[in-house]
Amino acid sequence: MPRITIAIDGHSSTGKSTVAKQLAEYIGYVYVDSGAMYRAVTLFAIQNELSNTALLERLQDINIALRPDKGGTVVLLNGADVSAAIRTMEVSNRVSEIAALPEVRAKLVEQQRLMRKDNGVVMDGRDIGTVVFPDAELKLFMTASAAVRAQRRYQELLERGDKVTYQEVLKNVTERDHIDSTREVSPLKAAPDAITIDNSEMNLEDQFHVVLQLAKDRIAGRV
Ligand code: C5P
Repeated sequence: MPRITIAIDGHSSTGKSTVAKQLAEYIGYVYVDSGAMYRAVTLFAIQNELSNTALLERLQDINIALRPDKGGTVVLLNGADVSAAIRTMEVSNRVSEIAALPEVRAKLVEQQRLMRKDNGVVMDGRDIGTVVFPDAELKLFMTASAAVRAQRRYQELLERGDKVTYQEVLKNVTERDHIDSTREVSPLKAAPDAITIDNSEMNLEDQFHVVLQLAKDRIAGRV
């Protein structure tokens, strides 16, 4: 079987990571959560109290590694496990402005391209099908209504024990989408050859089956 590159982009909190992870595990591919890398850079700025300009001076001091772990990915920032720390609202509230900095994107895109190695990768993010791997054999663009996305994310944060309100989460999700889609460098948009999936009305199982079928067909070279 030929191994292909699968790019999954889309709006915030559309469950891209969940489906990308499930798919990669099922078909034996490497899963890369590119958003985690932007979150790790943001955490570095917060921990070191750096302005965006000061952060650019320190980019060479940032070393990010993603390590597959049962059921997920361990995110290492300069050797420290920051998997949970990158998911706070503090990071979510600043990540999009940092992800809009061209120097930050250049550094992370270079690392993401190296992670493909010999194909067989599922990578999710905002610019995977448009910029990181424009040659990906399968490109998906996930979306859902902002209210549905905010509700899912709110639920997730509550389950983790975070003190947040639904309104706060909705504001964050819509603001991130706005910044991500209107930035100058690599704005969030569907690649012309991407298949758009609106999962507002889909449960995780249905969504997985849709995505798995698309991947199988593409791997078999049928569509
Ligand atoms: O995927 P996640 O929601 O964790 O991503 C966090 C933020 O990182 C996004 O809102 C976006 O600003 C940025 N991002 C990006 N390009 C990617 C992945 C994430 O700009 N490929």
